[in-house]
Amino acid sequence: MQYLPVCLKLSEMSVLLVGAGTIATRKARLLLRAQARVTVVAPDMTDELQALLAEQGGNWQARKYREADLQDCTLVVAATPDRQVNQQVSEHAKARGIPVNVVDAPDLCTFIFPSIVDRDPLVIAISSSGKSPVLARQLRHRFDALLPAAYGKLADFGGRLRDRVKQAIPEETPRRLFWEKLMAGAAAEQVLAGREQRAEAIFEEMLAREDGLAHGEVYLVGAGPGDPDLMTFKAARLLQSADVVLYDRLVSPAIMEMARRDAERIYVGKRRDDHAVPQEQINQLLVDLALAGKRVVRLKGGDPFVFGRGGEEIELLARHRIPFQVVPGITAGNAAACYAGIPLTHRDYAQSVRFVTGHLKDGTTNLDWSSFGSDSETVVFYMGLVGLPIICEQLQANGRAADTPVALVERATLSEQRVLTGTLATMAAIVEQEQPRAPTLIIVGPVVALHRQLAWFGES
Ligand code: SAH
Repeated sequence: MQYLPVCLKLSEMSVLLVGAGTIATRKARLLLRAQARVTVVAPDMTDELQALLAEQGGNWQARKYREADLQDCTLVVAATPDRQVNQQVSEHAKARGIPVNVVDAPDLCTFIFPSIVDRDPLVIAISSSGKSPVLARQLRHRFDALLPAAYGKLADFGGRLRDRVKQAIPEETPRRLFWEKLMAGAAAEQVLAGREQRAEAIFEEMLAREDGLAHGEVYLVGAGPGDPDLMTFKAARLLQSADVVLYDRLVSPAIMEMARRDAERIYVGKRRDDHAVPQEQINQLLVDLALAGKRVVRLKGGDPFVFGRGGEEIELLARHRIPFQVVPGITAGNAAACYAGIPLTHRDYAQSVRFVTGHLKDGTTNLDWSSFGSDSETVVFYMGLVGLPIICEQLQANGRAADTPVALVERATLSEQRVLTGTLATMAAIVEQEQPRAPTLIIVGPVVALHRQLAWFGES
């Protein structure tokens, strides 16, 4: 190992920064974040650095570097464009045993800055020992994407409870097991969601129970419209940590691939008029699994609260006091519009958008058709394939022009995505001929005409 990673406490320490260009500004920002007392020596300074020093405290000596600047300093960073000055700083610092970093000159450094993932107080430092900073930065981005923004709060949470746990569980091994459960369970998720009080309640419950087991928990997770890249970080993280995953037909196989290999997968799929598992049974199953201590993810296509019956599923959980969270997802209406190049609103064409269910009950919809007359509103029909002829008919009967553009987006965001376009007058015949397969979404309104201009891979 060429460099030993250490975490340096810089608060109240004097750090000398020689140079005041853009790179020096970045270093100053970092040093100030670590609460160092920064002195900058440089004849000129960027406006940004000046503002930074003014805002966060820091001292500027507007002149050239001299050796005496190193007096009383703990650390020195040289970032001038002048190689000779940098070399001097390096030599002087080395002679005095002060750690020195010279930007972009590994041979002049006795320490280097790693790439940092900052989830204060949790910090991850990544270094390629100066060989490939780009590689280190790419790795940093991967960790950044992996770790929830509030991850540091989890460390604080643990810090606050340390003594309590130590007292309650004096033996080391059970204590470690308790911590592992705490940090991977419902309490941790509540901390990440910013609900510390609830987290503490779960913690108390775990501590009080002989087996140290918490209740299971349920996450109602929006999986988005199908393309796995459209899941949120949180959805992906919860899916990867679940013991049990309940999913239905709208959840694509590629998304299910992301679950743990050993996770139990339960299909509760719904097809139109073919409810594999009745809703009441799904609700009950969620409760039973959680009471058995499982970490349950209920994956929903799109967003759980948009035509997803998510509300019903959490009602029973709440009644049983089972910890749960609802994680939003990209709803099919948004996704289909973006992927088909149809802006849902547009300054010239549509000032509002409405998401409606086109599901037929006994052959008719119970929508108030008279409220759909405004031409400046885009209407997105979910579950409207079967009812499409009625939808088109009713819209025309209630004030929409026969030539109002209509798009049907089939299997939006998946590789088989297809967009059919027509008008209220022609769409039923087009659908009859093309026989699109569910899931499909219908978008009605003048904005649909923009599809030809804006869809760069539209098929129709
Ligand atoms: N909660 C889901 C909607 C569930 S209702 C969401 O927020 O997206 C089911 C309906 O959603 C389907 O009948 C269809 O109209 C629409 N839908 C879901 N995924 C779709 C997709 N990939 N492409 C087109 N429509 C989709």
